[in-house]
Amino acid sequence: MRAVTPRIEEVLKERNIDFLTDVSAKTLSTFRIGGIVKTLILPKCVSELEEAIALCRACGNDFAVIGGGSNVLFGDGAIDVAVISTRRLDAVRVRDETIFAECGVFLGKLARFAAENGLCGLEFAAGIPGTLGGAVFMNAGAFGGEIGALVRSVPVFLPEENKIRRFSREEAGFAYRESVFQHRGAIVLGAELTLARGDPAEIARKVSEFARRRKATQPQGEPSAGSVFRRPAPGYPLARVLDELGVKGWREGGAAVSEKHAGFIVNRGGATARDVKKLIGRIQNHIEKEKGFRPQTEIRSIPREK
Ligand SMILES: Cc1cc2nc3c(=O)[nH]c(=O)nc-3n(C[C@H](O)[C@H](O)[C@H](O)COP(=O)(O)OP(=O)(O)OC[C@H]3O[C@@H](n4cnc5c(N)ncnc54)[C@H](O)[C@@H]3O)c2cc1C
Repeated sequence: MRAVTPRIEEVLKERNIDFLTDVSAKTLSTFRIGGIVKTLILPKCVSELEEAIALCRACGNDFAVIGGGSNVLFGDGAIDVAVISTRRLDAVRVRDETIFAECGVFLGKLARFAAENGLCGLEFAAGIPGTLGGAVFMNAGAFGGEIGALVRSVPVFLPEENKIRRFSREEAGFAYRESVFQHRGAIVLGAELTLARGDPAEIARKVSEFARRRKATQPQGEPSAGSVFRRPAPGYPLARVLDELGVKGWREGGAAVSEKHAGFIVNRGGATARDVKKLIGRIQNHIEKEKGFRPQTEIRSIPREK
């Protein structure tokens, strides 16, 4: 007799792990795009996160971990991949110049916590609308700073090996919007960050200066997932090149290239993942024709593109 694989919802209920069913993906990403997530899992602690992943695997369910959803594009229609949100894992503590934080803490909150403790180094991250886990995974950065540069160590869960391992900064392989975790299917559980003592007034000045620069150069109040494309090389002025190629204002359905920043696609209302992908394809074709390279996307699709 063939064993029947239990449904993920049944086992989550049995194990008392919180979950919601039939959640609009529009509420889970800053893009406000996407269909219906059949199962959204909300672990309360790291061990529940690990258990949720193990249960997904045992039930043969694909899964995706999200933090702030600020760098993801959910697909249209029914989304069968179980989505695991880290938002409840947001404990933070400090000892001397070292901050220990869980993966689900938002960067804005983390930067405020650092400032309150007279620690500098995280000012660049204050306006990035994601979590620490997503930032470490993506090696998020801005204004010359990168999260990887502050990392001392990263505890990760490796589902394939079913174990937790601590990676040093060197082992994490940080490069421009890159970490080894993207290639290992690793779940970032948190990070230990080394900061420096700083003057609170100077920290506040930098945070507001960076916020001012963001406001001046990026679309605010319009849903997006940040810069859509990776630069072909660090420092390459991709947004300027896109601007010169005249893509600002290009549109597919509800998705448009922002007039303020040629690297941002914004949701002008009712955009679908299909609209965004079509627009991305048009831009890629155009750059390839004009400049001879095809930019890769920085935003990550859920479900993953095959
Ligand atoms: C207005 C705007 C401005 C932005 N500005 C910047 C910027 O200046 N610099 C920059 O680098 N980015 C920027 N971004 C992009 C985005 O905020 C960052 O990439 C951020 O680090 C993503 O974090 P997140 O928690 O939202 O990740 P999500 O969007 O939830 O996930 C992104 C990817 O990380 C994975 N992931 C999330 N959490 C974990 C985890 N704990 N373990 C393993 N994988 C995980 C997801 O599976 C997904 O593949 C911007 C986005 C917006 C909307």
